[in-house]
Amino acid sequence: MNCFYHPTVPAIGLCKYCQRGLCTDCAAVVDDVLACTHRHEDEVHKLEQLAARNLFQSKRVGTSYMRNAIFYGLVGVLFAGFGLVQYRFLGLQAVFFIMIGLFLLYAASANYFEGRKHK
Ligand SMILES: [Zn+2]
Ligand SMILES: [Zn+2]
Repeated sequence: MNCFYHPTVPAIGLCKYCQRGLCTDCAAVVDDVLACTHRHEDEVHKLEQLAARNLFQSKRVGTSYMRNAIFYGLVGVLFAGFGLVQYRFLGLQAVFFIMIGLFLLYAASANYFEGRKHK
């Protein structure tokens, strides 16, 4: 592949914005990627900023799901464990605790799988 602007010169890479081949004279490095010098430097910079922001956001959403999953999981285990241990003394009330525990464990796993989707 040759440079789009200099058809006789071999290209060293592609402009991130227009995907055209660039030689060393035409390639500008913007945020660690290549851009057409004086043509698409600003566009590539904007693209990179957008991509970085999206990455950051999806990461944050993913971790908050994971944090919820851990929280629900721990509280769920506490409730279910308490219900199981107290079952002999509390009877039906203990079943109520176990059910809350199971529901929280279900919420924890739902959050866990949702969090993995965002990775
Ligand atoms: Zn370009
Ligand atoms: Zn060129």
